[in-house]
Amino acid sequence: MELHNENDFKIKSYHNAVYNLERTNQKLTTLSLQDIELIEGVGKGIAQIIDEINQTGNLGKLNELKRNTPKGILKLMKLRGIGSKKLKTLWSELGVDSADLLAEEIAKGNVQKLKGFGNKTVENISEILVFAKEAEGYIHYADAENLAIDIKTQIESSISDVQIEFAGKLRRKWEIINQLEFVVAAESPMVMDLALLKFESIQKTPSKSGLFTWRGVIISNEPVEVVFHFSTKEKFHSTLLLKTGSQAHLTHTFKNGSLKKTAESNTFNSEEEIYKALDLTFCEPEIREGNWELDFAENNELPTLVELQDITGAIHNHSKYSDGENTLEEMAVFCQQQGYQYLGISDHSKATSFYANGMFEETVKKQHLEIDALNKNLAPFKIFKGIEADILADGSLDYDNETLASFDFVVASIHSGLNMDITKATNRLLTAIANPHTTMLGHITGRLLLARKGYPINHKIIIDACATYGVIIEINAHPKRLDIDWRWINYALDQGVLLSINPDAHATDGFKDMYYGVCVGRKGGLTKEQTLNTWSTEKIETYFNERKLKIKS
Ligand SMILES: [Zn+2]
Ligand SMILES: [Zn+2]
Repeated sequence: MELHNENDFKIKSYHNAVYNLERTNQKLTTLSLQDIELIEGVGKGIAQIIDEINQTGNLGKLNELKRNTPKGILKLMKLRGIGSKKLKTLWSELGVDSADLLAEEIAKGNVQKLKGFGNKTVENISEILVFAKEAEGYIHYADAENLAIDIKTQIESSISDVQIEFAGKLRRKWEIINQLEFVVAAESPMVMDLALLKFESIQKTPSKSGLFTWRGVIISNEPVEVVFHFSTKEKFHSTLLLKTGSQAHLTHTFKNGSLKKTAESNTFNSEEEIYKALDLTFCEPEIREGNWELDFAENNELPTLVELQDITGAIHNHSKYSDGENTLEEMAVFCQQQGYQYLGISDHSKATSFYANGMFEETVKKQHLEIDALNKNLAPFKIFKGIEADILADGSLDYDNETLASFDFVVASIHSGLNMDITKATNRLLTAIANPHTTMLGHITGRLLLARKGYPINHKIIIDACATYGVIIEINAHPKRLDIDWRWINYALDQGVLLSINPDAHATDGFKDMYYGVCVGRKGGLTKEQTLNTWSTEKIETYFNERKLKIKS
């Protein structure tokens, strides 16, 4: 609406309605037009809009706005950091309607001449554009996995006696994916080619395909490349191994040779057999990166990786007390029903009261009373009293010591002032780590995969400090965060740092993200023992209590 010169009053009324709707307990889809009008901050016009969505599943006005907005602008809107007011100026003043054009206008020096576009702003926009360019063609692992499962199922049902498995970075569960890779074996390459050509959702790219490699694109809003490596039944496991590991993993020379040469020169009945042939411990697909796992495999010291079934509960979640969609009780009962022993609730703190409904001290007290009551009713299930405390610009947390001491645990996170250089960001985190009330660090870089880079930090210094102060590091399991990055997990484990896989659920639906956090943990070699939320309620309770005793002494 801002892009299309709608009047400010109208835009404000939408913002206001959204703010109120996010805080209502009522399920909008079940309400009549009259009932919707009764919600605070919702006028007649907006009530009609909600009703239209309820009746038709669509919104004409939104479709019209989208139709009248160039695709390139819609793409730019998805990037964090260029607001719609700025986009409107760029579009109307310079005719910028795509990322490429914007980059061109910056290079010509035209953007810098516009009102409201200082050097710092233009520098930021340039960085965002570089980031967007790098993100092109990529999707989140969660989306890639869903697409890939779909394709695999279709192929299994359309080609008789077929063998198919994920390969490449998809099988190694990278956080973002630009190519869905499969190894397929059937009667002949021709049978596979013909079957794939029948798929309406996949278009073959003949110029990039060969006899044993079939390349194409999955047709969707965000086209994704797909590649099928054709194999034979005899060579399936060798091909799978060769198409899964990184080059560093495959070509590393162990004392009995490399995996690549071994797999290329023989046939095997399983991948396990190939590792065995070299006297190596079997490496799970997700760790085959050619890093820490090589020596471990050779010395038969590979750790047993954490599994989803090991998880005993979820720490770091939100309820309606801040910006969550479900009540505290709904979140707790959901966890209990799916077999968890406990729920760590850590709603937002007061510094975020404007945009995340963060809690002031009175609300904290109220929440603690409700937790006490629920703990009586739900026992032995336990709700831990936590908070996601904001790390302020100077590194301090946004409550006094008395309030901080009233929690079982404190997740310290940065949510504002993200535009920092590495020194400032690292120091800000270091101050928070040294705070005796900090139990764990939340989403350590603030990145949003494919949307926002996150502030730069010196991971090594931060991890070392967490080891010194006994601060837990979170693996934020949200598919768009997966933060701490898996590339740093093994280093953290080496320093003896404890990790916690946190879904950061803002609704009961969010607990399923635990799976993606487990994937990331496994990539870094995470074990059950070094994952806080595989422990029993009692063990965690003791851990929290002992930590709190240290504050007092
Ligand atoms: Zn957060
Ligand atoms: Zn959170």
